[in-house]
Amino acid sequence: MACSASPSRCRTRFAPSPTGELHLGHVAAMIHVWGWADRWGSAVDLRIEDHDRQRCRPEFTAQLLADLDWLGFRPVRGGVRRIQSEQVERYTCALDHLRRAGLVYVCRCSRKTLPPATPGVESCYPGTCRHRGWPEGPDTSLRACLPADPVAFHDDLRGPQEQTPARQCGDLVLRDRLGQFTYQFAVVVDDLTDGIDWVIRGEDLLDSTGRQIALARLLGGNPPRHWLHHRLIVDADGRKLSKSEGAPPLAELRAKGLSAAKVIGLAAFRVGLQTEPRPCPAAEVAQLLACVTTR
Ligand code: GLU
Repeated sequence: MACSASPSRCRTRFAPSPTGELHLGHVAAMIHVWGWADRWGSAVDLRIEDHDRQRCRPEFTAQLLADLDWLGFRPVRGGVRRIQSEQVERYTCALDHLRRAGLVYVCRCSRKTLPPATPGVESCYPGTCRHRGWPEGPDTSLRACLPADPVAFHDDLRGPQEQTPARQCGDLVLRDRLGQFTYQFAVVVDDLTDGIDWVIRGEDLLDSTGRQIALARLLGGNPPRHWLHHRLIVDADGRKLSKSEGAPPLAELRAKGLSAAKVIGLAAFRVGLQTEPRPCPAAEVAQLLACVTTR
């Protein structure tokens, strides 16, 4: 296993965005985070990633905490370590650090003015505003200049990886046109602040890793040393399970009389960690990962 630090020095996190109710896809993510953390005796921080003020709601956060408690997944110190909407001062401070290094510029581009995106392909910002020296205005965003070099990292399931963020996504938006700090920026600042050295999350975020490492380095910090991007529950067409595609919320499964162990067992089955939906209590999820090969 790649986590070479002594287990007690590994610190990971569960970082949901309260944009809706939790479903089996989130339970699969919890199984991976708590399961690997248990195997390594490491701590799980709970971080609420509610940076998107349009989509996140406090009632979803409250439901999320109740669901975690019901399922039996306990974060370190028994509660929330960080709520992104309360961290504006720290993000501003990190932004100032990048500004002082001359790495931030004002961008006036919008979806309408950028080349149309190809469906299914991530669009790469062409750097239109990089050297324009625009002043900040009511409808401008802030971007960071990303270095052109490739970024290498190790994924505990996939082995060595290399990504070139400058070609994948181009200069990253740090603060959007509404004045909100973005996920890519906030997550890097939080992981650095909290000393997270092991990121365990879904494979839909694999492409974000290179840019997050690049940004952490621009901020002068040590990015997490270990990354693990686990499989997701997908439907028959290979689409990620989502509430909008009809995944029932956990509260509904609970109201139908399913026990927490049954829900965890079902999520483990759907994500390929067991061959039948055998119930599994939260305290035993590490055993579900015995079939997973790490590199
Ligand atoms: N907040 C993200 C999500 O709910 C997870 C981000 C991360 O683990 O880096 O998908």
